[in-house]
Amino acid sequence: MCIFCKIAAGEIPSTKVYEDEYCFAFKDINPQAPVHVLLIPKEHIESVNSINEENANVVCEVMKAIPKVASLIPELKDGYRVISNSGKNAGQTVFHLHFHILGGKEMNEHIV
Ligand code: AMP
Ligand code: ZN
Repeated sequence: MCIFCKIAAGEIPSTKVYEDEYCFAFKDINPQAPVHVLLIPKEHIESVNSINEENANVVCEVMKAIPKVASLIPELKDGYRVISNSGKNAGQTVFHLHFHILGGKEMNEHIV
């Protein structure tokens, strides 16, 4: 099992923020913003580049969980950024699909 599969299964401790049938969200261990949460599918999907017809339903559930996670964190009420690194050149280090939810400050350095 990969590290994020183990976190979703509770085998590696994490600071849980949200959980439902399909998703698990927890605080990033090395935060890049005042709020930095990782949202993952419980099912192992490698990256955005691995999204396909078969797992699209799970990915859709993860997308739907984003505003739910945000609504639980008051610091995100004025907005947040969602990032997913896919592959080596994007700097992906954990090969289990995850969405970084970043906020808690105004982020002026737009990268997109
Ligand atoms: P990426 O570089 O996009 O693959 O993001 C991986 C993220 O996972 C990084 O921001 C790490 O800080 C974070 N991370 C790695 N291991 C853990 C862990 N055990 N608990 C929480 N976050 C983690
Ligand atoms: Zn995994």
